[in-house]
Amino acid sequence: MRRSRAANKALRARRWDVVIAGAGPAGLSAALVLGRSRRRVLLCDTGTPRSWATKRMHSFLTRDGVAPDTFRRAAHRDLQRYPNVVCCPMEVTSARRLSNGFFDVLVGGTHHARARKMLIATGVLDELPPIAGIEHFFGKTVFTCPYCDGWEWRDAAIAVYGRRHRGFEMARALTGWSDDIALCTNGRSGLSQADQRSLTRNGIRIFQEPIARLKGSRGRLDAIVFRSGRVLPRSVLFFDTPSHAQSTLAQSLGCQFTRNGGVRCGQYEATSVPGVFVAGNIIRDVQLAIVAAAEGTRAAFGINRALTREDFERRATGVRRIQHTF
Ligand SMILES: Cc1cc2nc3c(=O)[nH]c(=O)nc-3n(C[C@H](O)[C@H](O)[C@H](O)COP(=O)(O)OP(=O)(O)OC[C@H]3O[C@@H](n4cnc5c(N)ncnc54)[C@H](O)[C@@H]3O)c2cc1C
Repeated sequence: MRRSRAANKALRARRWDVVIAGAGPAGLSAALVLGRSRRRVLLCDTGTPRSWATKRMHSFLTRDGVAPDTFRRAAHRDLQRYPNVVCCPMEVTSARRLSNGFFDVLVGGTHHARARKMLIATGVLDELPPIAGIEHFFGKTVFTCPYCDGWEWRDAAIAVYGRRHRGFEMARALTGWSDDIALCTNGRSGLSQADQRSLTRNGIRIFQEPIARLKGSRGRLDAIVFRSGRVLPRSVLFFDTPSHAQSTLAQSLGCQFTRNGGVRCGQYEATSVPGVFVAGNIIRDVQLAIVAAAEGTRAAFGINRALTREDFERRATGVRRIQHTF
């Protein structure tokens, strides 16, 4: 996302209906709906999407198999029709809710923008398993999501990486795609005897040996090599490890969180903080791009509805009151 002359000029203008932090599927989708609703929108992005390693994005109706870069470029082309949406390749460094309900948003550490609403769509990043060189395989034969990449590896020799309930859930999920699954826990599995029995009865082999490395070339996985020297031929690895929010904006604004680390939200992705909305993986619901885009659309609907009602009431009564349903 290049910073255009319009963005430079717009940053000086400083007053916005909405500042959106994050231009992944969630933020882009919200920007489109808000643009079409004639809102003045500043869309900021640091260019570090979760899909950084992905070659093909699947399960997005009409875009199945598209490269994520191509998808983002197409979304930006859609936005070009709306001059009231300004895209800015800068970080939303911080945001503060003022006593009058507006937000003072610091962009790129230097520019102060004033906004009536904030949408946080900053996504998450994955913690790769601690296996040397795994980043060379990530997005090619190492994945996180069966719904994204399972079809391409149907009936393949699948390795699952993960301990305790994470490894169990991922191995169970993949039984729909293959019956040749090896759960590699890289040390003690942490699984109960009952869970181990369920896995074994489903034909899933459990390997608790520490992993030394992945064998393969140019991102193509051939085998898991254990520290013992044992080699387990595998074509693909799916892992489940923690993922981390890309920004602390939601915390610093005082949003509530769910037990699984997502930002708690209610009607139309409104958070517990009046005027603050969230969308995309940061909610930690279904982690697919089309769901992130839909959440962005819902948030945009909620934001525009609130702005319209606030202005309507102010014109009718002279009273300025923030509309926010959590
Ligand atoms: C290996 C892999 C394969 C995948 N394959 C698929 C697939 O096939 N199909 C599918 O549907 N999904 C797939 N996904 C998941 C998909 O990438 C996510 O569901 C989707 O990207 C979530 O969108 P988002 O808008 O929430 O976040 P993101 O796409 O991660 O976008 C968040 C954006 O926010 C920006 N940002 C962060 N902090 C700030 C800040 N402070 N200020 C400004 N900008 C900021 C980042 O730079 C980033 O561009 C895959 C994920 C991985 C890891």
